[in-house]
Amino acid sequence: MQPCIFCRIVEGAIPTPFVYKDDEIVAFSDIQPQAPVHLLVVPRRHVGSLNEADDDMLLGRLLASARKAAAQAGLEQYRIVVNTGADAGQSVLHLHLHVLGGRVMAWPPG
Ligand code: AMP
Repeated sequence: MQPCIFCRIVEGAIPTPFVYKDDEIVAFSDIQPQAPVHLLVVPRRHVGSLNEADDDMLLGRLLASARKAAAQAGLEQYRIVVNTGADAGQSVLHLHLHVLGGRVMAWPPG
C-alpha cells in the first residue's frame, strides 16, 4: 500500500513549509493552487475522510485552525471546502480542509 502523502508531509519526510501548526494540525500550501491563496488544513493523525472522523473536537479545531491559517495568509474572505469521497473530488485519502481565497469565487462549484 502507498504511504499516505499527507502523513509523509506531517512527519517531515516531504519537506513542506507549514503556514500554521499546533499539536494536532498543520496547514500548508496546495501544490496545485486553485486560487491565489490555497491552503490545506490537515490533522496530524491519519483520518481517511470526514466520514471516518470520530472526534468532533478535532473537527472543531480543524475549522478554527482554518480560520487562523486564513488570517495568517491575509485573507478576510475565503471559502472552505472538504471534498468527501471520489464523486466529490477527494483525491487524497487523508482528511483535509481546503482554504481558498484571493479572488472572487463562483457559485455553484463545478
Ligand atoms: P482533494 O482532491 O480534495 O483530495 O485535495 C487534495 C489536494 O492535495 C489537491 O488539491 C492536491 O493538489 C494537493 N496535494 C497533493 N499532493 C500535495 C503535496 N505534496 N503538497 C501539497 N499539496 C498536495
